[in-house]
Amino acid sequence: MNYEPIIGVEVHVELATKSKMFCGCPADHFGKEPNSVTCPVCLGLPGALPVPNIKAVEWAILLGLALGCTINEESKFDRKHYFYPDLPKGYQISQYDQPLATGGSLGNIRIRRVHLEEDTGKLQHQGNDTFVDFNRSGVPLAEIVTEPDFRSVDEVDLFVKKLQQMVRYLGISGADMEKGSMRIEPSISMRKVESRKSKVESQGFPNYRVEIKNINSFKFARNAIAYEIERQTEMLKRGETPTQQTRGFVESKGITVAQREKEEAHDYRYFPEPDIPPMRFTNDYVEKIKMQIPTLPDEKKNEFIEVNKLSEYQAKILVGDMGKMNLFQGTVSLASINQANISGATVANWVINKVTDTSGVVPAHLAEQIIASQKISNVDETLLLEIIHKIITDNPKAVEDYKNGKEQALGFLVGQVLRQIKGKGDAQGISAIIKRLIQRR
Ligand code: ZN
Ligand code: MN
Repeated sequence: MNYEPIIGVEVHVELATKSKMFCGCPADHFGKEPNSVTCPVCLGLPGALPVPNIKAVEWAILLGLALGCTINEESKFDRKHYFYPDLPKGYQISQYDQPLATGGSLGNIRIRRVHLEEDTGKLQHQGNDTFVDFNRSGVPLAEIVTEPDFRSVDEVDLFVKKLQQMVRYLGISGADMEKGSMRIEPSISMRKVESRKSKVESQGFPNYRVEIKNINSFKFARNAIAYEIERQTEMLKRGETPTQQTRGFVESKGITVAQREKEEAHDYRYFPEPDIPPMRFTNDYVEKIKMQIPTLPDEKKNEFIEVNKLSEYQAKILVGDMGKMNLFQGTVSLASINQANISGATVANWVINKVTDTSGVVPAHLAEQIIASQKISNVDETLLLEIIHKIITDNPKAVEDYKNGKEQALGFLVGQVLRQIKGKGDAQGISAIIKRLIQRR
């Protein structure tokens, strides 16, 4: 019997706002002294009142719009209760039944919802001791939930990379997996291929699913899903049904282990956050945010191929690397590059193959280099020497003048050479060659 995986993902993205989600503490917590950016609100002290960060709301809406979601006219925050030492209030302020955005897509994957919530603190284990750092507590998180549309590890991999790219284009998060500013939680179950026959894709879905928590690398995500597919398939083949549970990925062993059994919405005792009034968004407000959406990766890639005549490969590399993309765009838009008739493909080639670190490379400087190299390579060297010889022989008077100290005579000779090669040479280089040849005579 053949089984196929049914996979959905939840992705958490830390928003790069100046302050946290419900207080004025800086949201930039990475690498800071533990518990140095906290206040009564993000420490969950009794009586502290949360005030939503409007920028975070705006950015989550921006993300929802970029994903083609509908922005709900009315939205609210809810309390999601659970106990864990990194959650001092005993609940997380999240969104339950009225998220900011619903029903979008990215590629062929449907997006169920995008909502806003607060990040938790972080536990640090040292020997037998466990410490808790609340710097991350209250950092805004956008949570993106897909429909269970993935049927393979590769599809998930492609999607999360695309999503990361999009978030970076929008400028709302570094979405750095290593820094934990983007985390992936895949849900996996297996169904018999035969039960897919129905036209309704969701029919024959298994009645269980296994969620893997907090994965912080693309590679781990691949490995964890692949492991789960195998583990569940083996169970099913033995006639067992995998239990609905939350599992964790053990990076060192490449396996997943059970953490919690069967967890459902009612376990969280969701209820509306009484300290924050519901939000209402006017059409105008949403339309204004919509106008902030920049050209997104797929669109950009097409633009590179159609307008700049780049190859599919070149366009893909540039789109995947913001530094290279900006350098390319800055360089091709320079007047000097256009006047020198240098193609976009040539510039792309330089940016992709000759620039290893784009930080500190100025487009104008790169353009100079490209133009200089093009001039030399455009003119055959032996042909150039032949032309210079001829010009020197044909203009004895100018040669004599130059020998007698008339600098302009040299300029005249260089000009004659450039005319012959239709200006496609490096004037300084030609001038040096003429000087050398004259001195030898
Ligand atoms: Zn705070
Ligand atoms: Mn969440």
